[in-house]
Amino acid sequence: MTSATRGMAIGTAMLVIGAAAGTALAQTSRLDADGNVREDAYIRIPLSDADQRYAAIDGARMKDIVREVADISLANRDDRTKYWGRIAGTRGEEMAREYVERRFRELGLTDIRDQEFDLPTQWFPADHDIRVEAGGRTYRFDSMVPALRSNPTDGTLDLEAVWVGTGSTADFLGRDVAGKAVFIHSIPAPGSMGHSAGASWEDAISRAQDRGAAAVVVIYGISDNFTIWQGLGRDVAIPGAFMGYEDGNTVKELIGGGEQVRVSMRVDVDYRDGLKTASVFGTLPGTTDEDIYVLAHLDGYFEAALDNASGIAVMLALAEHFAARPAEERRRNLVFVGTAGHHVGSPGSRWMHDNRETALADAALMINCEHVSVKQTVYWGPAMRMTDIPSPRRWWVNGSDRLVDLVLDAYRTFGVAVWDRMEDRAAGEMGSVARDLPSVQIIRSPEIKHTDQDIPEWVPEAGLEAVARAYARIVDDVNELDREALQPGQTTDGQ
Ligand SMILES: [Zn+2]
Repeated sequence: MTSATRGMAIGTAMLVIGAAAGTALAQTSRLDADGNVREDAYIRIPLSDADQRYAAIDGARMKDIVREVADISLANRDDRTKYWGRIAGTRGEEMAREYVERRFRELGLTDIRDQEFDLPTQWFPADHDIRVEAGGRTYRFDSMVPALRSNPTDGTLDLEAVWVGTGSTADFLGRDVAGKAVFIHSIPAPGSMGHSAGASWEDAISRAQDRGAAAVVVIYGISDNFTIWQGLGRDVAIPGAFMGYEDGNTVKELIGGGEQVRVSMRVDVDYRDGLKTASVFGTLPGTTDEDIYVLAHLDGYFEAALDNASGIAVMLALAEHFAARPAEERRRNLVFVGTAGHHVGSPGSRWMHDNRETALADAALMINCEHVSVKQTVYWGPAMRMTDIPSPRRWWVNGSDRLVDLVLDAYRTFGVAVWDRMEDRAAGEMGSVARDLPSVQIIRSPEIKHTDQDIPEWVPEAGLEAVARAYARIVDDVNELDREALQPGQTTDGQ
């Protein structure tokens, strides 16, 4: 269900809007069957004559890849624990790797190989039963799951519930939380990379623990009813759970009603040893022995359409584009890597950093494809709505002024909106290796990240297309320059 259809289900006024869009169907080819603007009617920047060679990079085909990769998650769905998707070390991630590998073969890439890594002990939820009891009634909430890497409960806890708002020191004033289940409303942090109860904002979860709470329940978001895989924080040992905003409101009203609310909580955890993960490599040979690396991480939670089927789609579009070009136009080898275990420590890219003297000895550039295209969010009433424009991305370039300029020129040319200032570090999969060589990425991490709403509908074709075209142009422009001219500290004169 998309957020638009969820919106329609909520109120009569919205139903009327839905019906109006429905009746417009007879007259328009710009709306889909649900009354939403069709993706091929989204804003697109026309290509100049000089850029016609990128015309075959097609967003609709990339969107098909996003759906196919999301389908791998659906094939590994687990409704009991809700811990499903392309989880690192599981069959879901392995199937994503096999999918990428198959594409590499179809495109005629060479030196296709897996690079395996042993995972340390991995946390998996085994089973859980969390109920809220009030006024003689029992509530089970569909959005409620154990917090990621939560400690297990010792049997079933039976706890009094206490509400602490967003969990600031002011909210805790006069609240006795000792031995209780503390409910905290956590708001997506500005930019939505984190959330307000976390350590870098209110630190409310640690505060609850410090004051003796027996368990914590974090209500995530300010709309909708996301199921999310999100941790409690490094130093938090008490067990905990997350739940969606709408379900959280129900608990808030129960507590606010003045009756005693109790929580029954059992969280069973499975610690698995001996799991493996692997990156997959494929090379498109160039005419020199220098390399350009293109990365996209394989694993993700739930359908993980944005995070990171979108990046996989762009990586494969680049492989297809350059495989179709005459070999003499490829100055450098293009080394494509579907990387392993991003959400469990990124062993694939860390290995590159640890072995940079050898593995990256001939590398001129690295491009990371991660969370590249997501619809701009608009909060409207009780639902988060989609718009027809990709959300501007954080961006990173490690390299010369000339590299920065050609990257921003490519973004402008193809309509890749970015923030007005570069980040001071490369977040995401490339984080550990980004300063080891000239490197480029854009990334956007909205509220749907790691939730059951990270679905293909959020990933606009137009954004995939713009990013893949821009990255292709960056590869071409970089191939006009010697490695020295790409290095950080090189001024424009120095090229
Ligand atoms: Zn990611």
